[in-house]
Amino acid sequence: MTLRTYPVVDESTPVDVSGGCPANVAGGRATVAGVPEGHTIHRLAARHAELFAGDKVHAASPQGRFAAGAARLTGSVLDGTEAYGKHLLHHYAGELTLHVHLGLYGKFADGPGEPPPPVGQVRLRLSSDRHWLDLRGPTACELLTPPEVAALRDRLGPDPLRADADPDRAYARIRRSGTALAALLLDQSVVAGTGLIFVTEALFRAGLPPTTPGRELTQADWRDLWADLVELMTLAVRNGRIDTVRPAHLPEAMGRAPRVDRHGGEVYVYRRSGAPCHVCGAEISRGDLAGRNLYWCPTCQRR
Ligand SMILES: [Zn+2]
Repeated sequence: MTLRTYPVVDESTPVDVSGGCPANVAGGRATVAGVPEGHTIHRLAARHAELFAGDKVHAASPQGRFAAGAARLTGSVLDGTEAYGKHLLHHYAGELTLHVHLGLYGKFADGPGEPPPPVGQVRLRLSSDRHWLDLRGPTACELLTPPEVAALRDRLGPDPLRADADPDRAYARIRRSGTALAALLLDQSVVAGTGLIFVTEALFRAGLPPTTPGRELTQADWRDLWADLVELMTLAVRNGRIDTVRPAHLPEAMGRAPRVDRHGGEVYVYRRSGAPCHVCGAEISRGDLAGRNLYWCPTCQRR
């Protein structure tokens, strides 16, 4: 797999695949921050359980594209919610599961009390006596049967944010592949929930070049990398943003200005091409791997 290195370029072009926050509308113009990474979906699952668990919901599709599904959902009681990678599941009594994948443009909004008049293309509106929830622009919004839920889980790799995740299952795929480690970790059938920020940052923290062929990763390296993904993603669920910088490299410790970026958190390499590495001072590189932007430190991530 070849990695094309770019010269330092203007980072303002919205070509990256970030995550962390869903699409938003600023000044009337939609800006897309990429497919949200797993921590955002886990936060949504917790939020939706808080809003509706144990309640009978009313479902509607003001836009009409989920009208039949909404009719089936109406009157059901939400038993619980879960996230699996970037997939959100609502489990209703009667073995009815709502599956949502936000994709690039999907976004939820919620509030207390009576829902406001629907604005824009509301695919799904859920409401109870206490709360309402609107979903706009998802890639998937569908009802699944238990076998379909099982099939969805089967096609996803282990999710570092789930207690039932088996990292050995991912390593079995990684160790027999000549594909670049970055591409393997972005493949949701290898590891679920990881996007570009977690992958590029975890590889930096591990000192591994993103192009390292999977088969060159030792089991010990994989254990460390997995543990780091669990730690970074758990922190992101708690904080609602992705921070990957160790205490010694925080702005206050280094006497540098905090990061200014719409993604928010303090990171080592993600979208920092041309800037000095917080550890060694070398210029952070940017390259393209199968259509995705990658970032790495040519010095710290050299084998
Ligand atoms: Zn460095």
